[in-house]
Amino acid sequence: MPKPIPVLLQLSEVIMRARQYMSDVIGGEGAILAHHVKPDDFRKKFEEAHIKDEESVQKFLQKMQSDKEGVIHLFPWSGILDENYELSETFQVPDIKTGKMVRLMSQLTSKEEEMFRNMIRRLNNIVTVADSLDVRIMIDAEQTYFQPAISRLTLEMMRKYNTKKAVVFNTYQTYLQEAFNEVKTDLEQAERQNFYFGAKLVRGAYIEQERARAAAMGYSDPTNPTYEATTESYHRTLMECLRRMKQYKDKGQDPKKIGIMVASHNEDTVRFAIEKMKEIGISPEDKVICFGQLLGMCDYITFPLGQSGYSAYKYIPYGPVKEVLPYLSRRAQENRGILKKIKKEKRLLLNEITRRIVRGEIFYKPKGNYTPV
Ligand SMILES: Cc1cc2nc3c(=O)[nH]c(=O)nc-3n(C[C@H](O)[C@H](O)[C@H](O)COP(=O)(O)OP(=O)(O)OC[C@H]3O[C@@H](n4cnc5c(N)ncnc54)[C@H](O)[C@@H]3O)c2cc1C
Repeated sequence: MPKPIPVLLQLSEVIMRARQYMSDVIGGEGAILAHHVKPDDFRKKFEEAHIKDEESVQKFLQKMQSDKEGVIHLFPWSGILDENYELSETFQVPDIKTGKMVRLMSQLTSKEEEMFRNMIRRLNNIVTVADSLDVRIMIDAEQTYFQPAISRLTLEMMRKYNTKKAVVFNTYQTYLQEAFNEVKTDLEQAERQNFYFGAKLVRGAYIEQERARAAAMGYSDPTNPTYEATTESYHRTLMECLRRMKQYKDKGQDPKKIGIMVASHNEDTVRFAIEKMKEIGISPEDKVICFGQLLGMCDYITFPLGQSGYSAYKYIPYGPVKEVLPYLSRRAQENRGILKKIKKEKRLLLNEITRRIVRGEIFYKPKGNYTPV
């Protein structure tokens, strides 16, 4: 996990405060787009509060963007990938009592604004190069106190770059109670705004930290109460994506409008994905679902997948040793059943070596028929 840059923490705060503002003014909870609120709903509320005629409120209403179904975006998020975007100037809303504009983000220092612009420039560069080389970029998901910003930026990158294929993939952690709703809202945005949706689905790596932080700070635990609930959430989210892919396919539209990586070491989840693909009528050749496991882990899942024509990837942690080692040790801690899995892997390797010796196939090289997703 990278050390969060302060501006990502602040941006995540803004997103959470904007959600709160929305539910204070209009009612409801969760992601703003999930409310299906129209600009007129805001106009009415401001009228009832007798602040509608304030100049600042009028300006706010004019700037509010809405998509083709009239659903609002409280802020002009689409500009956020613009390298000249002024963060602290953007996120202001009218106080419902006075009509005066209040900042949702504290004034950033010029250094912080510069860091943000540098980050945006780097992101734009990376994705542009990836796009030109036909490589996909998957953005990892981190802890909830700064994930909303990562997710929002990634969604904007999808909107900007995923116009002909899914180049940018977001990551959704299904141990979060809100995961299913977040994926559904983002899928709807992709559909309405006509961009390709790319998602890596994971269970989530920071459950202990999430719970400890929630307990220490006195807010409700954002994660599912049990392992089974996380599995149910994973499978439900994956089903929603598969269902929509099938809809595209049936309507004669490009099923690649949705691209999913099933990133899991869990055999039951991989089996579930394959069974549901078969049931729904999505074949490996459609190249809309791929599988991912970490290098050196669960090869007995990755290799057969690849040999059966599924797109299967090994994630390779790469970087300076002092950064990669903590990452790997965290992965080992997170994967509770890892020792059992390693035991299984060793047993399978031993069986394979014995099989090759008995059959005289020491240099046996299985041939896959690989085309990327
Ligand atoms: C290719 C790849 C990319 C990844 N990228 C990310 C990433 O970007 N961000 C990220 O956070 N993680 C990432 N992970 C890690 C992932 O989130 C999981 O931590 C890891 O894969 C273990 O989950 P599993 O499905 O493989 O196995 P399992 O062993 O079946 O599941 C273990 C997971 O279940 C959940 N869980 C365990 N106990 C409970 C409980 N009591 N209540 C509720 N839930 C519980 C936790 O999420 C735990 O990690 C990635 C993993 C892979 C393979």
